[in-house]
Amino acid sequence: MIKLSGIRKSYGRNEVLKGIDLTVEKGEVVAILGPSGSGKTTLLRCINYLEKPSDGEIRIGDFTLDCRRAGKKDIRALRLRSAMVFQQYNLFSHKTALENVTEGLIVVKKMNKEEARKRGIRLLEKVGLGAKLDAYPSQLSGGQQQRVGIARALALEPEVILFDEPTSALDPELVGEVLDVIRRIAKEGITMIIVTHEMGFAQDVAGHVVFMDGGMIVEEGRPSELFGNPKEERTKQFLKRIA
Ligand code: ATP
Repeated sequence: MIKLSGIRKSYGRNEVLKGIDLTVEKGEVVAILGPSGSGKTTLLRCINYLEKPSDGEIRIGDFTLDCRRAGKKDIRALRLRSAMVFQQYNLFSHKTALENVTEGLIVVKKMNKEEARKRGIRLLEKVGLGAKLDAYPSQLSGGQQQRVGIARALALEPEVILFDEPTSALDPELVGEVLDVIRRIAKEGITMIIVTHEMGFAQDVAGHVVFMDGGMIVEEGRPSELFGNPKEERTKQFLKRIA
């Protein structure tokens, strides 16, 4: 289970997260929606401590981190439990697809090279890239690069995978292949939090949808409730605008 309590984040005087409380059950897929600038990406980055929250508590499984007191060891422990899939893939350009997947296993998890290689191959096959193990990112399409990013996140066997708008940098014809992979791993019961602008996908894959605006959670619920019968005026307006 993931439990966020009172997460706040300010940039100077601009408070962009105003006390976020969110619980994600084990195996649940949560989609975070909201207008541009509402704080979705910042929230995701706070969960992984790529941004340091100003206040709040992050619980992942049996580990709890108090953002006011967290030291290096706590942040490392948190990052072992969560993995991020980035909008811009963030692959190492000088490493092959396989090396990108095994790097974290060897360096962070201290796995031996042969074992890491076996796991890397299995995961790249799983995302449909068994024939591209030795390709460099520049030799791969955006969709293929993102699938390497997903295999890399899966390799670490985190308790939660955080997806930051995983398809928004892709040409439209490449979106489907990435969404298909995410859909497939969602069925395996991996806990996921996905910031997305793909409403159809959110409706289809998420068990729980969160609507954010102005650094707050305005409304959350099952997709059928939130899309079919939104309660808050701001949610209604947002859904009408993107319909
Ligand atoms: P989008 O859908 O456009 O990606 P978002 O909901 O993910 O938007 P965030 O990227 O989290 O929104 O940004 C929330 C607010 O925080 C915005 O007002 C943004 O300008 C501000 N912000 C984000 N990162 C920084 C930063 N590094 N320094 C200062 N302000 C920032």
